[in-house]
Amino acid sequence: MTDAAEFDRDHLWHPYTNVTKPGPTFMVDRADGAWITLDDGTRMIDAMSSWWCTIHGHRHPAITAAMKDQIDRLPHVMFGGLTHEPAVELGRRLVAMTPAGLDRVFYCDSGSVAIEVAMKMAVQHQLAAGFPGRSRFATIRGGYHGDTWKAMSVCDPVNGMHHLFEGSLNIQYFAPRPPVTLDEGWPEDDEANGTAALLRLLHEHGDQIAALVLEPVVQGAGGMRFYHPEYLRRARRLCDEMGILLIFDEIATGFGRTGHLFAADLAGVTPDIMCLGKALTGGHISFASVMASSHVAETIGGGDPGLFMHGPTFMGNPLACAAACASLDLLADGTWRGRVAEIAAQMQAELAPARDLPGVADVRVLGAIAVIEMDHSVSADEAHPISRETGVWLRPFGRNIYAMPPFILAPDEVSRVSAAMLRLARTL
Ligand SMILES: *Cc1c(COP(=O)(O)O)cnc(C)c1O
Repeated sequence: MTDAAEFDRDHLWHPYTNVTKPGPTFMVDRADGAWITLDDGTRMIDAMSSWWCTIHGHRHPAITAAMKDQIDRLPHVMFGGLTHEPAVELGRRLVAMTPAGLDRVFYCDSGSVAIEVAMKMAVQHQLAAGFPGRSRFATIRGGYHGDTWKAMSVCDPVNGMHHLFEGSLNIQYFAPRPPVTLDEGWPEDDEANGTAALLRLLHEHGDQIAALVLEPVVQGAGGMRFYHPEYLRRARRLCDEMGILLIFDEIATGFGRTGHLFAADLAGVTPDIMCLGKALTGGHISFASVMASSHVAETIGGGDPGLFMHGPTFMGNPLACAAACASLDLLADGTWRGRVAEIAAQMQAELAPARDLPGVADVRVLGAIAVIEMDHSVSADEAHPISRETGVWLRPFGRNIYAMPPFILAPDEVSRVSAAMLRLARTL
């Protein structure tokens, strides 16, 4: 073990790890496109897009050039009372590309903070609209919205750490998971399609609920499940009828991951507030954005105190805005659509044999999201040594062996990812 690896093991905390039982942790030296290279020269395809962010691959020349240019001009400046071109340019792009009506942009640092901001907006909106009792939130089981307190309170209550933090978490209202999957027919019976349960929840607690928070179509870190977009259209209608805001968490799904620019586009629904993160900068630097309707923004502005009470130190960071503009420009020509569709078709075909393996519960693909769900939990620590051998970096969680590859993978690279997933399904 090198000195650096030893220091890492003895001193550095990694995400969701036990410092007394460190798992295998590899030292990364560099990354090029879809590939990461370890300090011993081992090369692996980053089939996770480094937690779903590097949609154009690592170190994309257009993005790094934009960042280098920006770093020489203005890496950071406070956003209170000052603005700059990268922030304006990014805002233009986001307003134009997100569902019509989301005209107000609030920049922040990470996905979890975006969720905090969105939830705060909803509470301030309800206060300003004359509903001070509406300070809680409704959501569905199986969700994941981040690791900060308010975000955690709307994560799945069973696998979302609620029992650990019971005394500290806000109590929110949970509807059952939407029961109809994306590729099933939509039953007209509201008990069968899950909207009756949502309706009951909203009716029972509506006078306390500021907003309904949903990951549209794809529930990511809560279980990698795909549900029917009709559920979102019905949720939109219910929220409108009851004066409840609708918040979409597109942090995982935004920017083409599902084969659509946003998962909201699958349903043709515009939420009142939408959170963006992860792939926003093409995975080059942390950044997030909360998009709100003019109605929400103006209601808050017309209330007391009128100010929206949030403003992080690094809000609107120019370097991150420049990276995001460059990443969105790469999406602008639309070629990603064909690539994502090809990746989806290829992985669908190549992963089909997994259905016959013992221990496999389900296989599903949507856009550049491919999942082999096992009937038992799988260990990332056991997967990692296999990644070294297959040359494909995968980090399974829960019962899911999954890939969210960058959109730039060539067909032979996609095949390597599929083969590595099949090997993990046979081994873990
Ligand atoms: C990753 C994720 C978050 C949290 O984002 P961070 O940048 O990790 O704080 C929130 N919601 C969803 C759907 C996510 O996938």
